[in-house]
Amino acid sequence: MLTRREFLKLCTTALATATLTDRLMPIMSQGFAAGKISKPPVIWLELGSCTGNSIALDNAVNPNLNQILTDMVDMRYNWLLNVVQGSEVVKVLQDTAEKEAGNFWLVVEGSVMTADNGRYNHIYMRDNQLVTGLTALQELAPKAKHIIAVGTCACFGGPSAAYPNPAGAKGVWEVIKQPVINVPGCPANPDWMTGIFSHLIMYGLPELDGYNRPKMFFGQTIHDLCQRRQQFEDGIFASFPGESGCLYKVGCKGPVTHADCPKRQWNHYVNWPVRAGAPCIGCVNPGFPDSSMPFYNHLPDLATPLGMLNIKKFGAAAAGLGAAAVGAHLITGVVGKRVGKHWLDGTNPNEPDPPENLEQLKQELDDLIRQQNALISESQALEQVRIKRRLPKTFRQKVVDFFRPGQKHRR
Ligand code: SF4
Repeated sequence: MLTRREFLKLCTTALATATLTDRLMPIMSQGFAAGKISKPPVIWLELGSCTGNSIALDNAVNPNLNQILTDMVDMRYNWLLNVVQGSEVVKVLQDTAEKEAGNFWLVVEGSVMTADNGRYNHIYMRDNQLVTGLTALQELAPKAKHIIAVGTCACFGGPSAAYPNPAGAKGVWEVIKQPVINVPGCPANPDWMTGIFSHLIMYGLPELDGYNRPKMFFGQTIHDLCQRRQQFEDGIFASFPGESGCLYKVGCKGPVTHADCPKRQWNHYVNWPVRAGAPCIGCVNPGFPDSSMPFYNHLPDLATPLGMLNIKKFGAAAAGLGAAAVGAHLITGVVGKRVGKHWLDGTNPNEPDPPENLEQLKQELDDLIRQQNALISESQALEQVRIKRRLPKTFRQKVVDFFRPGQKHRR
């Protein structure tokens, strides 16, 4: 059997998933046959969503859907994949929840509609009564062995929870007390889902970050892995989507987005948005899409020694926290004669827990603003003593142009 270290290496290596399937599936089959591991019964609920994550799973390649269903999990209920519908399959769901209590996995796709006791989202009928997604989740979660939220709606509310959110859409972990593994994405990459399923079967819980996202897939920023990173370092920026150059200026949220899209890519590992010329919109982030909008505006909205950057949206969301961090790193980077090589640290093991409520979030934002102001003061002091090693004029000009388009550079 693969060691956990080998498994993680396979999962995190570019284009490793073909190898993963070739190496993992036979080992898993042997493990099942020998009784060393067991195929988990899975109840897959779809709540408030577009079915995008189920469709993404349908398009999985390594392993493909057939392999997932025959060799990896025992899918008992998934309304999109069920062969039968109606009361027969609801009975299967109920039987699984009773007979496999403590053993089945609950996979949830879509956000939980909480307003008016969940009445805006009914997912099946039981005894001639409509059952809401909220009720089904609250009944099933305490009996499940693992709860896995797939897609940003299930993890953090996602597009379903975008302003003004009349249905009170929320992420699963905001509604139940049990621990939830969050696999965000709009939709989640099928490799992320099958990678987590494999890890749970063979090694148990994967290492998670502060937002309960598995670090094996969400441990680095898109910016750190991006094919356009060198152009960012060289100060070459696209003015419109589709142009060559780093897409930061046209709204790329890669610096505050933790996911391995650049190396994993999509549609059989063919391409991904930034490589195709569209800025990353931060779809795996808590607060998406509100915290990412406007999609085509660049991130920092902060005062710097190079001039004011408007704070239009210092949002009450984690991406907003990330934006502040990026701004602070930028300031020190520019003053230190380089635009930050590492704007934003990847998720590290000691990352604090995410804010639990609005007050805590406000407190964290206040702290960040204080830190940011301290850095600005520090950078202004450095400017005053006129550091001898100045940026080469051309590069400095590029940085100023980047932040203050249309304004003349002052030396
Ligand atoms: S800002 Fe976006 S396009 Fe530019 S290097 Fe970072 S992730 Fe890539």
